[in-house]
Amino acid sequence: RHVIITIDGPAGSGKSSVAKMVAQRLGFAYLDSGAIYRAVALYLLQKGIPPDDEAQIEESLKGMNIHIKDLQRIYVNGNDVTMAIRSPQVDEVVSSYAALPVVRRRLFSLQRDLRDDRDLIAEGRDMGTVVFPDADLKIFLKADARTRAIRRWKELMERGVDISFDDVYYQIVQRDEKDANRKLSPLMPAEDAIILDTSELTLEEVVDKVTELIKD
Ligand code: C5P
Repeated sequence: RHVIITIDGPAGSGKSSVAKMVAQRLGFAYLDSGAIYRAVALYLLQKGIPPDDEAQIEESLKGMNIHIKDLQRIYVNGNDVTMAIRSPQVDEVVSSYAALPVVRRRLFSLQRDLRDDRDLIAEGRDMGTVVFPDADLKIFLKADARTRAIRRWKELMERGVDISFDDVYYQIVQRDEKDANRKLSPLMPAEDAIILDTSELTLEEVVDKVTELIKD
């Protein structure tokens, strides 16, 4: 049986960068579950279906085919959306769609099916609690909201996205609140998760810590 490590936490906690780097170091595959939720949000946004129209969302998802290539590029009905899902427009709406049971149920099996071929590091909000409850090691990363907003803002600046720090901060807080308060698989640490506060740590320090935990 393959090893499964889960890394959960709020937006900007460092999950993606940490999971990617640890996976590379240890030769594990890496699942970015947020990318799948983002792909759904982008698809529904482009179709003009608002998050409160559950019936139409359910119908519309039947025509959505998500394909993840080498766990790196994500395609919707054959279109590569790997870059498009990272826009502030998607940031703004993704948690509203992700809160819907019709969306989450549809994605659970898709995520579980990805565990088959290799050792895996799965990163998201509910990897340790719901999707892979039997994971070998569960890590929950947290950091204060300001630190997370600064990280996210820098990332957007580097990509040339024009957005104010206040808007990024507000989005992060809003997203946290929606992710933590939804009914189905809310954002929270699994009972058996190791909680790491990354506020005062560099990316390298977190990667080192997580790698040590996995090796132990
Ligand atoms: O990790 P990332 O910020 O890309 O995730 C985008 C959004 O997708 C989150 O704010 C959350 O609403 C949703 N998500 C989720 N469950 C996951 C991963 C992401 O609900 N496992």
